[in-house]
Amino acid sequence: MKCYVTAESTPGETRAALTPTSAAGLIKLGLEVHVQPGLGLASHYVDADYEKAGVKFAADHDAALASADLVLRVRKPAVAEVAKMKRGAWHLSFLDPFNEPDLIGAFVQAGVSAASLEMIPRTTLAQKMDALSSQASLAGYAAVIEAAQRQQMALPMMMTPAGTILPARVFVIGAGVAGLQAIATAKRLGARVEAFDTRPVVEEQVRSLGAKFVKIDLGETGQTAGGYAKALTPEQVAKQQAGMAKIIAQSDIVITTAKLFGRNAPLLVTKAMLAGMKSGSVVVDIAVESGGNVEGSKAGEDVVTDNGVIIIGHPCLEGTVGHHATQVLAANYAAWFTHFWDEQAKSLKADLEDEILKGCLITHGGAIVHPQFASKS
Ligand code: NAD
Repeated sequence: MKCYVTAESTPGETRAALTPTSAAGLIKLGLEVHVQPGLGLASHYVDADYEKAGVKFAADHDAALASADLVLRVRKPAVAEVAKMKRGAWHLSFLDPFNEPDLIGAFVQAGVSAASLEMIPRTTLAQKMDALSSQASLAGYAAVIEAAQRQQMALPMMMTPAGTILPARVFVIGAGVAGLQAIATAKRLGARVEAFDTRPVVEEQVRSLGAKFVKIDLGETGQTAGGYAKALTPEQVAKQQAGMAKIIAQSDIVITTAKLFGRNAPLLVTKAMLAGMKSGSVVVDIAVESGGNVEGSKAGEDVVTDNGVIIIGHPCLEGTVGHHATQVLAANYAAWFTHFWDEQAKSLKADLEDEILKGCLITHGGAIVHPQFASKS
């Protein structure tokens, strides 16, 4: 079986779907691995190390796509790329399937079995393949580092002969995977940290990291069967905003990570709340690519408000630590692949009853097989 790993074409993308270490693992299983030259350069994985691992370099991208039984990449492909693939081949990457009906249609047309990293179930069995978590965790870390660099303030308390510097106040909105890592990072840097999430179950996790959980009574909030937050009613959002306004005004750094799976992120920090913040405060909107939690945040741009608040809308914070983001992402791909590898047949097995495959396989055999997307065909 032949696997082809393409380099990323999105400007600024530093990550890759394969490291020399993960390549060696796939080759050991019996796979022939081909990559685009320079695959890992942006995250400092050099061609010489891929070569040592046994990887072959593809001189012709289109020919490699056309002959591969499995294609791996980080970001969703262009529709034109899918048409170049072999019928019956597999494709694994982030696909953004809720917003990409044309791309799903292209996979159907091409007869390619497309699996979406976002749709891998968040279960214990699938933990090693959970790319949403591996990347969100680094994004949470990077958000704090980014904010700390933009601040004109130190984060820890410092007692000096010239006076005491008070610890910076950090407020984290959304305490899922990214939020918890942001809390842990800000605590390690010595900040005073508060956090809020609509899922009350995370209160204990927030407190165990040494942060204060902000209590706002929103009534019934609940969570989906998959453990994700449910959308709030407009009344609940208004209550949440009122409950957070004072804390936001007092915070030096606000990090927003509140997302709703498969839907747009809720707007939680309004222009009026930003106007109440001190000059030089930093707000990092991790949800910026899915609509944003902060009014006026822009993907890929920093916005400075009239009162001097810096809003960072970096669309891929994990990419700022691309070496490690690639390390864990490549391990996620390798775990997925190993799970579905048929040792006897030396190929991937399409067990459509497998819980993980049922969760993440969008198209197979020239049809949409995932019930959540079948109606969008
Ligand atoms: P996410 O990225 O979808 O959302 C981030 C956080 O924002 C969540 O904690 C969510 O509750 C919160 N949020 C949503 N609306 C909000 C609002 N209005 N105000 C404040 N916070 C709001 O979530 P995630 O980090 O990907 O985690 C999703 C779920 O998956 C969690 O329950 C997590 O524990 C679970 N999970 C399970 C596993 C596993 O068992 N293997 C692994 C990872 C995550």
